[in-house]
Amino acid sequence: MEKYLSKRLQGLAESQTLAMNQKTKDLQARGLDIVNLTAGEPDFFTPAHIKAAAKAAVDANYSFYTPVDGYPELRRAVADKLRRENGLEYRPEQVVVSNGAKHALANAILSLVDEGDEVVIPAPYWVSYAELVKLAGGRPVVVRTSFEGGFKMSAAQLAAAITPRTKLLILCSPSNPTGSVYRREELAALAEVVAQHDRLFVLSDEIYEHIRFEGQHESIAQFPAVKDRVVLVNGVSKAYAMTGYRIGYLAAPLWIAKACAKLQGQLTSNASSIAQRAAIAALSGDNTPTREMVEAFRRRRDLVLRHLNDMPGVRCGTPPAAFYVFPDVSAFFGRRDGSTAIGNDADLCLYLLDKALVAGVPGSAFGEPTCIRFSYATSDELLEKAMRSMKKALSNLT
Ligand code: PMP
Ligand code: GLU
Repeated sequence: MEKYLSKRLQGLAESQTLAMNQKTKDLQARGLDIVNLTAGEPDFFTPAHIKAAAKAAVDANYSFYTPVDGYPELRRAVADKLRRENGLEYRPEQVVVSNGAKHALANAILSLVDEGDEVVIPAPYWVSYAELVKLAGGRPVVVRTSFEGGFKMSAAQLAAAITPRTKLLILCSPSNPTGSVYRREELAALAEVVAQHDRLFVLSDEIYEHIRFEGQHESIAQFPAVKDRVVLVNGVSKAYAMTGYRIGYLAAPLWIAKACAKLQGQLTSNASSIAQRAAIAALSGDNTPTREMVEAFRRRRDLVLRHLNDMPGVRCGTPPAAFYVFPDVSAFFGRRDGSTAIGNDADLCLYLLDKALVAGVPGSAFGEPTCIRFSYATSDELLEKAMRSMKKALSNLT
């Protein structure tokens, strides 16, 4: 009967990150001692003051529908945060609160992309961008970037990818899966190209803003020539270890924010009232717990890199942000261990799962088949264990 599914759904791929995470959890539940490095979420608990706000919200009967675009206090907290931390001026009416940053991205894409519109997506990209674009009837135009170039798209590459049909550019800085970050001058150069094209908009995914080990966060929205064509997306999932709360937001020109709220009003209504109260506490409270998490991520990144750089055949840069490493493992393609032959990234992931009991996500899920993504958002002990067994398994590939 599946042939009766809408064409839209028949063409939609499952989220590979969520699928790999679930598959690994299923294997663990069956008793396999696997170290799960697929999951893109902090392993920490939500900070105490945020949990307290959620509990207080239950007792204070925040149980009714909220405005579709979120409580005014939360939209004000977002506008205040954007001014305080990013130097960006947005009015609360320009903010729409959604069920996670993923939902905010979907709202923006469905509001801007028409049938046949082209959307420029630099690869490696996060898994959901291209699928959401296809869902909107748009055509992803993937621009491949290089290991040597830090996996970043240059202004020249952007200019070459633009056609009269290009409607949107999706940027993710800091990046999932590479952890790379666009510097201010690099964003300025991209903004200059965007400014030359009247119908070109930018969707700027900044969800890893706070998981950063050096420098300060830079948003493409800071450039006046393009600010009225940028949709900035962020949320509380990563910075405050609140993935399950499902609160994300966008800030955009008013006409886009209004369109996103209209769409959301038909699809899901408001995001959870309790989670919104918790998000107000997160955005306006003390950031010390976030800083502590970032220090732990830095320590773990260094631990993982020490091991990876000690594995012949593995090539890995030093990601300045997020909690992923994205090593190039293409040196192993064409090698074998007994009867097991490694042809590509998916084979290598399966091999590591089987022989090293380590789970990662094949780079092809992110548009870069020479690599594998490992999340290091897990304990130092488990990371040590995973890296040791990975080294051993890889050394058996000849
Ligand atoms: N963008 C990127 C790059 C992500 O890694 C994630 C994590 N799932 C999201 C958006 C979505 O985050 P949220 O949990 O807020 O929906
Ligand atoms: N962002 C996370 C990841 O990339 C969570 C999974 C998802 O939302 O797709 O693993």
